[in-house]
Amino acid sequence: MKILPVQNYYCKNNTYQVRGGGNSEHTGNVVPFASAKSIKNDNSQVSFTSLQTTALTLAKKIPLDDRLAAMFQVARHGDIVVTAKSLKDAQKALKESSACFQNIIKRFLYVEDEGIQGTAAFLRNAHDELEVINPNKFDMFLIDQSGQAPIKQGESFYVLPGDTVKVNDTDIVIKDKPKADLSLHRHIFSRVFDLTNDVKPAIQKQNLKSILSLVKQDGVKGKKLTFEDVGGQDKVINDLKKGILYPVKYPEAYENSIVNHGFIMYGPPGTGKTLIAQALANETSANFVKLNGLEMESKWVGESEENWRNLFELARENQPSIIFIDEFDAVAKKRSGKDVYGDKVVNQLLTLMSDVEKNGDDIYVIAATNKLNMLDDAITRSGRFGQHIEVNAPDTVEGILKIFDIHTRNKSLASDVDKNKLAKELLDMKTTGADISHIVNAANENAFERTGIYKKMEEGSFTKSDIEALEITSEDFSKAVNEFSNNNGKTYKPIGFRQYDK
Ligand code: ADP
Repeated sequence: MKILPVQNYYCKNNTYQVRGGGNSEHTGNVVPFASAKSIKNDNSQVSFTSLQTTALTLAKKIPLDDRLAAMFQVARHGDIVVTAKSLKDAQKALKESSACFQNIIKRFLYVEDEGIQGTAAFLRNAHDELEVINPNKFDMFLIDQSGQAPIKQGESFYVLPGDTVKVNDTDIVIKDKPKADLSLHRHIFSRVFDLTNDVKPAIQKQNLKSILSLVKQDGVKGKKLTFEDVGGQDKVINDLKKGILYPVKYPEAYENSIVNHGFIMYGPPGTGKTLIAQALANETSANFVKLNGLEMESKWVGESEENWRNLFELARENQPSIIFIDEFDAVAKKRSGKDVYGDKVVNQLLTLMSDVEKNGDDIYVIAATNKLNMLDDAITRSGRFGQHIEVNAPDTVEGILKIFDIHTRNKSLASDVDKNKLAKELLDMKTTGADISHIVNAANENAFERTGIYKKMEEGSFTKSDIEALEITSEDFSKAVNEFSNNNGKTYKPIGFRQYDK
């Protein structure tokens, strides 16, 4: 909002004056509602409806200046006083000029006036000053002792008692109080739309986001993982974008939808489940909490429920949050016989998830497991983990090549490296992303060995230029691939899940 420095400390005398066409029917005397009622009470036949109509008719006779002044008396910071010919006109004008309202509006105090050709909006700012805003496509004018200044669409001016705001032919004289006490009659000539409760959650959410961005902007160290660091998992990424990224980024699009907050990513170890969740958290600018089911089971014994509650509370305070639970089967494994402890943990988690849904919190839980069918039925049946996403090892040469390129992007490859041939080999071996990462590292180490870099390190003659001149050759890769296949592809040791596999 642009505040223009029109200052007017001159205060005209407070006697009521008729100004301009809009109020021209008025004789100069405000008819207090009490006396209006007593006039009407002479008629003993009057019905309640006609009494109200009478009150309205008389209310209309109270000059707009006074009706507005009565509203200024009750307007607080966050309120906007709007006058127009109809509520629809006011709505249209405010909508078209919404960009100039830079504070959250909590209450609309609306005063209808048949005579006004346009809309005028007044708000109380944080310093309790009254501002007028022009929401019309045409200029309004502010008249004070120093003359007349145009108020263009979207501009706002401070106004003081005695100033006149001109909306087409209607002159509104700003007063700090109406000529007569209208406090008991405001409800007749005004309507109040109180949005305090509606906007509160939005304000809290926005504030939290701003507070968190303070920390995020405060010196980001190192490169953060993004979707660019994940290869061959486009479908998984797309599913997670639709399920988490878009609802967090564009909440207004999901106002009338039920948003799913629980996801299960399942598939072999080393396929990038953790990597994807981490990248997703960064892309979403979300707070990322990573847990390991196995560790939790041993560390949280006896206090699991309390820990879950604390964890979700922390996630709530720092929303948007993504809670990633690796080895989920360790906390939510199928139970045989009576397992009261496990039951409690699963139930607590489901209750917390249900609260998240009810409150519409921006908390998403991604649970990763190597085997979906090992999860307790309560988890899958509840619907709280509504989306199951399969993450597999890449099954195309293109997928392998993407991962290969990601892991070699900061390395020099010799011209004899045939990437396509290598990718086909890796595909036949059913390598995962973790395997490819391992093979590239091993090839790099082979190149260190071959060029004598390790030797130089031993002797102390190593310099950075040795690395700059380094190229990984086809031979380095072949050796790494052979070692890998001789080891039966054991680059990634799944921790723990096998003990439940028996
Ligand atoms: P998971 O959680 O499925 O067991 P991780 O995400 O922990 O697998 O993968 C381990 C490492 O393997 C990652 O940090 C990354 O270096 C590499 N990796 C795995 N999958 C991919 C992939 N699709 N794209 C790029 N790198 C990958």
